[in-house]
Amino acid sequence: MARVGILGGGQLGLMLAEALRKLNTEVVVIEPDAEAPCAQRLANVMQRPLDDAAALAEFFSRCDVATYDSENIPSDPLAPHAAKLVPSLEVLRVSQDRAKEKAFLASRGFRLAASRVVAPGEDVRAAAKAFGFPCIAKSLRGGYDGKGQHRLQGEADLAALPAGPSGWVLEEVLTLSAELSCIVARSGDRRDFTFPVFENLHQHHILDLTVVPARITPALQQEAREAALAVARALGVVGLLTVEFFIGAGRDGVQRLYVNELAPRVHNSGHVTRQACTVSQFDALARICSGVPLSSPELHGGGWCMGQLLGDLWLAQGRTGGPLDLSAWKDFPEVVDVYLYGKREARSRRKMGHFVVHAPTADQAAARAVAFREALVRVRRP
Ligand code: ADP
Ligand code: MG
Repeated sequence: MARVGILGGGQLGLMLAEALRKLNTEVVVIEPDAEAPCAQRLANVMQRPLDDAAALAEFFSRCDVATYDSENIPSDPLAPHAAKLVPSLEVLRVSQDRAKEKAFLASRGFRLAASRVVAPGEDVRAAAKAFGFPCIAKSLRGGYDGKGQHRLQGEADLAALPAGPSGWVLEEVLTLSAELSCIVARSGDRRDFTFPVFENLHQHHILDLTVVPARITPALQQEAREAALAVARALGVVGLLTVEFFIGAGRDGVQRLYVNELAPRVHNSGHVTRQACTVSQFDALARICSGVPLSSPELHGGGWCMGQLLGDLWLAQGRTGGPLDLSAWKDFPEVVDVYLYGKREARSRRKMGHFVVHAPTADQAAARAVAFREALVRVRRP
């Protein structure tokens, strides 16, 4: 029986652990935060730091294969255990550093927004003036949900950039017409499959809705699937690779498909696959890690939408945590699943759960998802 380790115990790790348990795979998680979803709900959680050599040695002694639920983890301490890591340490290192990621993608000919790397210690303000405004400064490492990003309209915004030696990527601002993601699953025997293309809508840089089928032309969907597969193959990924795309226009005004960034793991947008696809992203990675053959994840019919439930919803209901009042669900039979992550404290913009809607079309699924959340907000505790 395979034993699989998960570095990081957030909601992604939790849903992956559930998929692994279905295959009778033994799961061990290492996660420093006692409040994290895995720590709340699973037995085998080592509450230890992810950069502690002794903790990692124990963790890896308890698994045959290990994967991770975030790329923002220290990679150097993993080097002695690289042989067990899926996706590989090399893939992790490329995806956790925006400069490496962009250099790799550019070298393989994938279309990217124009950018310039500002090395740690280099003067980012002078570099931004030379690069030109408007632009987005993204921290080289550690960013997620728009954290570590600063939109610079002009010189006046430079003052808002935190001082310090960390490096940056300056990126041209594209005029976006859509954001997409495409997940590739690739097993050790080099069999690979793409999930359907997801259309992602963000609020405050946080994924808000994922709609599938994406409301873009079949030609663009095909282009995204082929590009995602090509990136995964070029990187030699075994495991999952999520490729985030923009459909956007640069200075010439022509709308094109751009690669935004890579995540070598299960992805927030892939929550929808638990109901919308014949194989979920969690089942796919669980099978790869457990040495069980993979099969093609096909989309079920109709339209689907995943909606995020942020802490703000709890606050709107007059709660600081605990359960959410779901009484409004009675009017929304098309909501087929609500998944709450078990985080104790509801904070603004904290991801507390999500739900999935199934409707005849993608437009209807998206509209019902928005309506369901509005109905939840209207429920206030007496
Ligand atoms: P994160 O790691 O926080 O997800 P991203 O690079 O994906 O960082 O950026 C977060 C969001 O910011 C994107 O989903 C998109 O909405 C917006 N964004 C990022 N880069 C650009 C760009 N070059 N042009 C326009 N919008 C962008
Ligand atoms: Mg992103």
